[in-house]
Amino acid sequence: MDLLSTTLARVKPSPTVAVTALAAELRAAGRDIISLGAGEPDFDTPRHIREAGIAAIETGKTRYTTVDGIAELKQAVCRKFARENGLTYTPAQVSVASGGKQILYNALMATLNPGDEVIIPAPYWVSYPDMVLLAGGTPVVIEAGVDAGFRITPDQLEAAITPKTKWFIFNSPSNPTGAGYDRAALKGLTDVLMRHPHVQVMTDDMYEHLVFDAFEFCTPAQVEPKLYDRTLTCNGVSKAYAMTGWRIGYAAGPEKLIAAMRKVQSQSTSNPCTISQWAAVAALDGPQDFLADFRTIFQRRRDLVVAALNAIPGITCPVPEGAFYVYPSIAGLIGKTSAGGAKIATDEDFVTALLEETGVAVVFGAAFGLSPNFRISYATSDDALTEACARIADFCAGLR
Ligand code: GLU
Repeated sequence: MDLLSTTLARVKPSPTVAVTALAAELRAAGRDIISLGAGEPDFDTPRHIREAGIAAIETGKTRYTTVDGIAELKQAVCRKFARENGLTYTPAQVSVASGGKQILYNALMATLNPGDEVIIPAPYWVSYPDMVLLAGGTPVVIEAGVDAGFRITPDQLEAAITPKTKWFIFNSPSNPTGAGYDRAALKGLTDVLMRHPHVQVMTDDMYEHLVFDAFEFCTPAQVEPKLYDRTLTCNGVSKAYAMTGWRIGYAAGPEKLIAAMRKVQSQSTSNPCTISQWAAVAALDGPQDFLADFRTIFQRRRDLVVAALNAIPGITCPVPEGAFYVYPSIAGLIGKTSAGGAKIATDEDFVTALLEETGVAVVFGAAFGLSPNFRISYATSDDALTEACARIADFCAGLR
């Protein structure tokens, strides 16, 4: 009998996690590696948040809590949604888990039956389709390439909906492209959803605070209040507050769904780290002024990277509205051979040869469902980014 389940056989390990591990391994082995793989801010968690974590330890807040979050954090989440998104929720409509990842996973596990379809716009964050598969559902991918600004159209969404559609997963600003839907673009999609009352909306708003220029973030239940009853609004403290390792994600939505997600969590991991929950209260309730500094730094890095990449013949890099990723196309480089003799037939070949020959770690586009591209996470120092872009330029200049 096979040790592994047939469900697991359909799923691949997370490529974003894998590239981060590989970069760390190569660095430990003495290689000069610049990792632009992991999507995590290089900033320290702000001091007042760290201190709240320390205070939690010192005051004995180190035991189990309610499965899906302490009352204080659920209340802070309600205040956040009211203050920043104009959405009114009660604590019974809030779920807290070990990262945004667990929130999404719980929701899919709690709702999908075999044959249920989940619409996912590509390029997508690597884990959406595999989580759907793990939960027994069927991912239905709709593509939006560089020419579409990496944004799907209402017609594409309309065409993808079937009687079996259970969820539409929405992510703006997007991982991996940084593309954002403004209010008018999002309204186009919510209008479609209004015509299909059986479709639930899972919106991953993790990059809400990381938006640039004049772009204004908006979320589906805010743009179309009539979707409130069938929307799970997901977020977390990881990216905005530089708290990736603390592992706190949260969501708000219909009470019945939140209770079902709690059931999944009660039989798997129980409560997210107690200390992290208290730190998250400080993050959500505390001063928010440093977010503007984070945005300024990320915008400067975005501009640095986009300019450097667009100066390389064969690479086209759109300017993203948010997050800390760029997703350049390498269509002009496919079919070439690297200075080290590697044939570049796919974006995976490109990133493998790039790492091998220059020490720059990025994630290949196929992992995000749209090729030939690669993802750079520019959440690292300006110096490292300048050096990495120079190495990418050299590598591309060596392609024949
Ligand atoms: N979300 C981040 C990324 O895309 C962290 C790694 C992961 O969980 O995928 O790089």
